[in-house]
Amino acid sequence: MRTLSDAFGRRINYLRISVTDRCNLRCAYCMPAEGVQWQPREELLSLGEIVQVVRAAAQLGVSRIRLTGGEPLVRPDVARLIAAISHIDGIQDIGLTTNGLLLEKLAPALADAGLSRVNISLDTLDQKAFRRLTRLGEFGQVWRGIAAAERAGLAPIKLNTVVIRGINDAELLDLARLSLDHPWHIRFIELMPIGNTGDWGAGFLSARDRYVSVQEMRQTLAPLDLLPAEAPAGNGPARTFRIPGAAGAVGFISPLGEHFCETCNRLRLTADGRLRPCLIQTGEVPVREALRGGQDVTTLIEQAAARKPEGHRLWQRDIAISHNRMMCQIGG
Ligand code: SAM
Ligand code: SF4
Repeated sequence: MRTLSDAFGRRINYLRISVTDRCNLRCAYCMPAEGVQWQPREELLSLGEIVQVVRAAAQLGVSRIRLTGGEPLVRPDVARLIAAISHIDGIQDIGLTTNGLLLEKLAPALADAGLSRVNISLDTLDQKAFRRLTRLGEFGQVWRGIAAAERAGLAPIKLNTVVIRGINDAELLDLARLSLDHPWHIRFIELMPIGNTGDWGAGFLSARDRYVSVQEMRQTLAPLDLLPAEAPAGNGPARTFRIPGAAGAVGFISPLGEHFCETCNRLRLTADGRLRPCLIQTGEVPVREALRGGQDVTTLIEQAAARKPEGHRLWQRDIAISHNRMMCQIGG
């Protein structure tokens, strides 16, 4: 079988697919309150087109897929898409990153379709802070979605928490303690200067003051005596710990402070059909026109891998960060 590697010898076996740019929330760090201009539907890849890209990627040794968005569960054919991908030779693992709002309704169908597990974004346990941050969401609906995912066997459940000073930095101990009784993986993520980087409006600190480093998060969690732990399957760049005796785990993802570019194993496919070599930097390779022209996209996937930069260099302040897309248009 052919394999896919980049110019720095990194093996690429993971494809993150943004299946839609639409979303039913307006999280302050991801998009402006008024939302973003959705792309016309005909510009988004169809189910069949996404499946063709995954089939070509699988022939190059890609075995892990993650569906993201926007919010992937607002795409009406998402369960059918998962079923189609799960039948592709070589695909061993399909994950999905969601805000959880629609999981209560959809978790059983997603599990039946072949979804392996879910990452659910949950930044706060406080209903008011949840509404302020997501602008539209109801905390209880996400909480019921987590329970539904667990009942459907979409395990291990991972909760993604972006830490934001003035919003949830006082809740880190409570959030981490969820792992005591639940076999969940609570992953604390540094806020990235990508997406909605400007003023978030009343009730939020300025852009300069909102960021909390992983080092500071660890200090806050020091009373829990976290012990290094083995990372669960598909844990990607998270550094994993455990509260002694806990059922679940606590992880830290530090794209800025302790970046993980040297182990990067992924490509991204945007909803409008462009392969993105790096979360932050540009250099996208378009595949939609090739798909619609009946061409094989294998060489385009190889081209995208070859364009992967050594690192995103987000930790250097002097680089031009790609602002051509909001986070909801890349998928995180
Ligand atoms: N709608 C889904 C969700 O919220 O989980 C999937 C798409 S969302 C863009 C994917 C992940 O990116 C979420 O966990 C979200 O918290 C994270 N994210 C969005 N903007 C971010 C930012 N500026 N910094 C760090 N993480 C961010
Ligand atoms: Fe939507 Fe996810 Fe962005 Fe929130 S983080 S606005 S749920 S895409």
